[in-house]
Amino acid sequence: MTPSPSEITPQNAPPVWSDGVRELLARRPVFDAHCDAIARAVDLGDDLAERTTSGHFDCVRGAEGGLGAWVVVAWVDPARDLERSFDRASEMFAAAHDLAARRPDRFRIVGNAEELSAAHDARVVAGIPGIEGGHAIEGSIDKLHWFFERGLRVMTLVWNNHLPWIRSCDGGAGADIPIGLSEFGRRVVAELNQLGIVVDLSHAGERSFYDALDATSKPPIASHSGCMALHEHPRNLTDDQLRALAQHDGVAGIVFHPGFLDADARREEMRVRTTNAYTSIDMSGNREQAARGFLEQQRVMQRDARPMPASRLVEHIAHAVDVAGIDHVGIGSDYDGIQRTPQWLESASSYGTLAELLVRRGFTLTDVEKVLGGNMRRVFETVTGKGMAAHAAQGLVGAAGFARG
Ligand SMILES: [Zn+2]
Repeated sequence: MTPSPSEITPQNAPPVWSDGVRELLARRPVFDAHCDAIARAVDLGDDLAERTTSGHFDCVRGAEGGLGAWVVVAWVDPARDLERSFDRASEMFAAAHDLAARRPDRFRIVGNAEELSAAHDARVVAGIPGIEGGHAIEGSIDKLHWFFERGLRVMTLVWNNHLPWIRSCDGGAGADIPIGLSEFGRRVVAELNQLGIVVDLSHAGERSFYDALDATSKPPIASHSGCMALHEHPRNLTDDQLRALAQHDGVAGIVFHPGFLDADARREEMRVRTTNAYTSIDMSGNREQAARGFLEQQRVMQRDARPMPASRLVEHIAHAVDVAGIDHVGIGSDYDGIQRTPQWLESASSYGTLAELLVRRGFTLTDVEKVLGGNMRRVFETVTGKGMAAHAAQGLVGAAGFARG
């Protein structure tokens, strides 16, 4: 008697990559619009040019998964560092430049379409410095310029903390919280357009999102969000928002975080946060101890929460494609920023598993290539190409710029 396929393939083993997927990944098509790994380099001294044994992401595992480019996110935790946001973000920029200077064979910072192509041809992972949360510029256009000169090309306008010039997706009200984007906020967006920095609207409040779309003259992204139609969560995008992004030739990067993608997964994560294994993790120490604590939280969460199948992420991608169109959906994993991943997508070496699942869902390889990176790459090229032309003489400052202080 011939066994059925389900008897041959273990239910919890990831699908084997088909030849077509392997060929696709060999061309390194993945453009991950959101990844927090650089914080591990700063706080723990992790070398992201080498295979690392903790966390989700490094350039070696990324390359195995077909990674061509990633947005090197500098996120400043406002609970810890609000008063020194600029300094903390600049430490992360310095770490990215240090990585590029030490390991030009593995990692290179790119600022425009030409540099991205050159890195791709050299088979070096491209890094695009990004800031998550406008608090890093501390209300100063000069500081925004400072980051631009050191490679900033993607700016998530706001994180979960409201700023005087933009409301986040979080709740709360008060005299200091604008309803959407303030006059200064519109000026920031205009400046990003002028410089050639991609405007990222994940985390923005709904009104802020539309105000920013109104203000921007360049295609925007939402780098790491899910679909509100599949799971009501303030971090997700409504169908109207997905369509509005498409109308501006932008891209929605679908996030891997189970808690944003699925109501049961979110409840499961909240349950684990009340367990002894989780609550006993000490997060109170210095920065390095807190970073180790976060890795331990990741370990416990991935181990103890009932896994969320990767197919749920595929459902969000498929829904976004249905609503916004195949040219307007990408990925922003949030690797190393999230406490757990969908099953089978536990590290950056598993983008190919997502590709395989998309193929099995009925996506053509051409469409998979667009979702995994082609669409994000288009926005990056459109926005930075023109910006760099206007600033041709400026160039990147590079690691030496930090050495000089
Ligand atoms: Zn985020």
